[in-house]
Amino acid sequence: MQRRRQIELANQIGLFGAVATAPYQLFYYLYDFAYFNSVFTANIVFTLGYLSVLVLNGMRRYGLAQRTLLINVNIQMFVVTALIGADAGVHLFYFTIAAVLVFMKQRGRRRYIAHMALLGTLYMTAHFLFTPSRALSPVPAPWVNVMYVGSGIGVLTLLGIFLCLFRQQIDHAERELMLLSRHFKTLSNTDPLTGLANRRVLDEALEREWSRLSRHSGALSIIMCDIDHFKRFNDRYGHDAGDECLKRVTAALKEGLSRPSDLIARYGGEEFVIVLPNTAAQGARHIADRLCQAVEALEIPNEDSSTSAWVTLSAGVSSTEAAVTMRATGGGVLLKGADQALYQAKTSGRNRAVYLPCPTNALEPSGA
Ligand code: GH3
Ligand code: MG
Ligand code: MG
Repeated sequence: MQRRRQIELANQIGLFGAVATAPYQLFYYLYDFAYFNSVFTANIVFTLGYLSVLVLNGMRRYGLAQRTLLINVNIQMFVVTALIGADAGVHLFYFTIAAVLVFMKQRGRRRYIAHMALLGTLYMTAHFLFTPSRALSPVPAPWVNVMYVGSGIGVLTLLGIFLCLFRQQIDHAERELMLLSRHFKTLSNTDPLTGLANRRVLDEALEREWSRLSRHSGALSIIMCDIDHFKRFNDRYGHDAGDECLKRVTAALKEGLSRPSDLIARYGGEEFVIVLPNTAAQGARHIADRLCQAVEALEIPNEDSSTSAWVTLSAGVSSTEAAVTMRATGGGVLLKGADQALYQAKTSGRNRAVYLPCPTNALEPSGA
């Protein structure tokens, strides 16, 4: 249990112990003060013990506060039972408080079991040792039964409150854990500079789309793109400007895609791969052309580029509609086609998109 919750709960139990003792005190006082004088006086000390927990926690003496609470409640269980007898059931109430405290503090199963065993022994001893005949001022009938019922209600109330608080604590922890795991998942799937999906997500998406294509008819296209002469850009304007350029190109690429199912990932330094599900060759070529134009239209100066005055993009496009023998090859084959197309775009002048169909030889089943 969280330390903050432990402190809060110790305060709540301290307060509850003090408040729960009050009705008993009232009874002793009104019924026969002279007869119950000793238990009344003892309870005043125990009530002060409970309230001191709040003070100690306020002074940041958290460990001492918890020990005080536990010792106070155990001594109270013994002393009060010795004075009024076990048949009033008061010791059951104090045992419950002590059990909750031990549960709260539990550190390791063995220590928890040992503590609970000790508590149980104390409870049993009080229960069998302090019979009404041995008690100093036993509670007379019918009040002993009223007190027994009161103690039972006290136990149930305490357990109810504690379980409710405990439940809240678990819900809170679960919520925090869920948020954390979502956060880590996003971190592990995202490229930190551009915020795009990383290569791992791309590989998964490609395999997913590939296997979908082998089950359903349709098309799948890939665009692999690479910023032209980016090394020259970095050399001239510096690495920070390079990073900024990457972000602006990313934004332009994202803007150029319209379907929510399209996935864009950062494949390497200045390389991006776009997966276009349900998109045939013609549509993918059109998108790739548009993306190249969009990047040049950003008009980011790249004075050392031999292709254009601006930063430009080359793209390789590959598509497939085959659904027969593809399972054997995997989505990597489409990536290979796009890579070859990108190479051609680079060698044929850059700032353009080149299309190549999915390499057909790779589509043959393995071993064929
Ligand atoms: P080409 O037109 O043939 O693609 O030439 P290029 O200069 O773009 O390609 P090359 O592979 O020679 O250089 C890529 C450069 O991209 C090298 C590296 O400095 C830069 N780069 C890669 N990742 C990052 C990054 O995260 N930030 C910055 N600023 N630069 C990067
Ligand atoms: Mg490049
Ligand atoms: Mg490159």
